[in-house]
Amino acid sequence: MDTTDSLANKPTSNDPRLTPAQQATLDLIRLPVEERITHKSTLRAQIQLELEKETVDLVDQIEEPLWVSKRQLQAVTSCEALYEAQQVEPFEWKLPMTRGQIFHKCVELSIHISPPRAAPELVDEALVSLMNRGDALADFLLDLNDVERAEIRSEVASLLQTFFDTFPPLRPAWSPTTELPRKVLLHRGKIVLQGRFDLTVGEPDELTAGRVLLELKTGRAVPHHLDDLRFYALLETLVVGVPPSLLASFYVDAGTVQVEAVDEDLLRSAIRRTGNSISRLVQLRLKKVQPERRPSGSCRWCPIADDCRPGQSWLEEAGGGGAW
Ligand code: SF4
Repeated sequence: MDTTDSLANKPTSNDPRLTPAQQATLDLIRLPVEERITHKSTLRAQIQLELEKETVDLVDQIEEPLWVSKRQLQAVTSCEALYEAQQVEPFEWKLPMTRGQIFHKCVELSIHISPPRAAPELVDEALVSLMNRGDALADFLLDLNDVERAEIRSEVASLLQTFFDTFPPLRPAWSPTTELPRKVLLHRGKIVLQGRFDLTVGEPDELTAGRVLLELKTGRAVPHHLDDLRFYALLETLVVGVPPSLLASFYVDAGTVQVEAVDEDLLRSAIRRTGNSISRLVQLRLKKVQPERRPSGSCRWCPIADDCRPGQSWLEEAGGGGAW
């Protein structure tokens, strides 16, 4: 590795090739070597054991594997009744949802494509690539009319330009990856944990943490983004054996990053949340418990809101609940 350009180097002075915003992002996502934690070689086995312990009594009753991603964990820790309703609803693409997909494809191409392209060109390349995939997203994008396609193209090109202006250019010495998949089998495949990291930079050095997991957010900040990344820290540890050094959410609109260092306390809290949620998902699958209704802003678009009393009460209160 080219150590003169490594992400491990402690920032001592500003890099004149970077904008102030790029420098600020780099300073936050670059953890100097002396601050990186060296972990025990038994950590991976220990986490697997703790997660399996939560479901050991029930897992034999599961017939089909239970797939668990950050989406299921977030859903089951908010409203379980909504989670169950969504399980039976067919998924449909909507135009705003494609923004993140196209943006992520652009970032992926920007790292690997040569010669480098300007933002609008990358958006065109990304759209062609996604439309050639032959999946539901490809069908949706192919069905857009010219105006819709022009609007989404313009929106993603602007986002991408903001990203280029505020995120440091990714150097090969940082070992960047995009869409890095991680899959973990618990109970010999009865429960499958999975995730795909938007962007990673850096690498572990034997048992010393060094990889930074970054989620590129094209929407607003919400509290569960932290939980999503903590779950990813577990996935990384269960696959590689070494936790990441930092977790980061980069908010593309604002060009700002929120960073959290990974230590033992963070891993403990992620194990607790993930273990409890998996156990709850198994119990719901086996109909051992009734789904809990937990009203929140989601009641506004929940498909079963009309038949949900707690949801209706919440909506009434949120809407003002009568005259002044
Ligand atoms: S209306 Fe609200 S409380 Fe009821 S199921 Fe939907 S999200 Fe849950």
